[in-house]
Amino acid sequence: MKTITQLRQQFIEGDETPVGALADTMKVINEKDTEIHAFLDVYDDAKEVAESATEAFGKKDYESKPLLGVPIAVKNNILVKGKRATGASRILENYIASYDATIIEKLKAAGAVIVGSTNLDEFAMGGSTETSAFGPTKNPHDTSRVPGGSSGGSAAAVAMGAVPIAIGTDTGGSIRQPASYCGLVGIKPTYGAVSRFGLMAMGSSLDQAGVLANSVADAEVVLNVMKGQDESDMTTVSSDTYPEVPVKETYTIGVPRSFLKDGIDRDVMERFEAHLESLKKDGHKIVDIELPLFEAGLAAYYIVMPAEVSSNLARYDGIRYGVRKEGEDLLDTYLESRAQGFGPEAKRRILLGTYVLSSGYYDAYYGKAEAVRTLMREELSQVFSNVDLVITPTAPTPAFKLGEKEDPLSMYRQDIFTVPVNLTGVPAMSLPMEEVEREGKMLPVGVQYIAPHNGEARLFDIGKKVFDDRQA
Ligand code: GLN
Repeated sequence: MKTITQLRQQFIEGDETPVGALADTMKVINEKDTEIHAFLDVYDDAKEVAESATEAFGKKDYESKPLLGVPIAVKNNILVKGKRATGASRILENYIASYDATIIEKLKAAGAVIVGSTNLDEFAMGGSTETSAFGPTKNPHDTSRVPGGSSGGSAAAVAMGAVPIAIGTDTGGSIRQPASYCGLVGIKPTYGAVSRFGLMAMGSSLDQAGVLANSVADAEVVLNVMKGQDESDMTTVSSDTYPEVPVKETYTIGVPRSFLKDGIDRDVMERFEAHLESLKKDGHKIVDIELPLFEAGLAAYYIVMPAEVSSNLARYDGIRYGVRKEGEDLLDTYLESRAQGFGPEAKRRILLGTYVLSSGYYDAYYGKAEAVRTLMREELSQVFSNVDLVITPTAPTPAFKLGEKEDPLSMYRQDIFTVPVNLTGVPAMSLPMEEVEREGKMLPVGVQYIAPHNGEARLFDIGKKVFDDRQA
């Protein structure tokens, strides 16, 4: 798959056109997506957008549009005006978005050709795309395995070669973990760097949209288009909210050793150690650090997140939004609509969240989890006074088999390294390491770099050094 930079070069030189690039995208979708099921909808009107982009290149009118003619796919929990926005839930099966999310407005203004929407775990709740009401997505590297989740459709769309770029959302790892399982670059920005206006809220204090790509440089171009303060989202930050995080020649990189002790596959750990060695060879300094509270990350996340989920999903009641199942009276209509509209994982989290927020339990669970979160943030900022970046594997294993993780807790454990990042609001990026072998197939695994708040430029810098430049 060509990178955006390569595509743009070809568009400018006339060796390729946006119409041609879109035709390539459609060809891959037609050939592969019956099996992979990365897409929920493919947009017919993408053709008109590609045609006008082709014309614009003809007139040399492309300077102000960094994504002109670039085909991209968007996770289906992000609103695109006039298109189905399902959240991969039965309850929104026929819901049509009445406006564009701020990030969609920005992508369109930059000239992107949105080719379709991608599959996800229901309302982004899951780590495998198996909780989608419309059936799972498969991993293009091995179709007996999951692509990860919840942005599994976006990851698979890029990994199968349909699009160079896809947009995902990340509440506890949903961009980075599928990037790891599908061999891609995946970035979750600083909380507030990108507007959440027009995103279906899962955990509002944790959610961020970000990018899945084949190269760090591509992810950077797209994130730069999407980011920025938005008057429709009060939680967005401006460029001077956090101190500047400078880019350096070489970095001091902290490894939270005691956090990496159990549950990681041996060969994943070997790839990680080899990656650390390669960093040392390049002149970076690797030091051991302690982040004891990170071990409480999963426990805190699985209280804070469902609490926010239970509140955010209250709006899907068959009256204000969602498919309505008429009952005998109003209460019955609510109960029936929600009972039939939500899948088991959504129900589990609504119940959990309602429980931890109920009077009598609020202080014991929700209050404690929020307190842990504050302490984690302090602990991390202490660490960042001594190191430039923190590094971990992205996930403890490569992609698992479809149906393998029936026990929800075993699925939740895949997020052990990613959730502390959302709880503390810092940016992080997953990059592919050397692959590992399972049953004769080579499977990707990722390494996660974590930077201080506002440290995206630093992530892109190290990412280009250790990934893009080594690929070239
Ligand atoms: N897998 C995590 C969960 O199930 C993260 C989901 C996400 O980031 N949207 O909550």
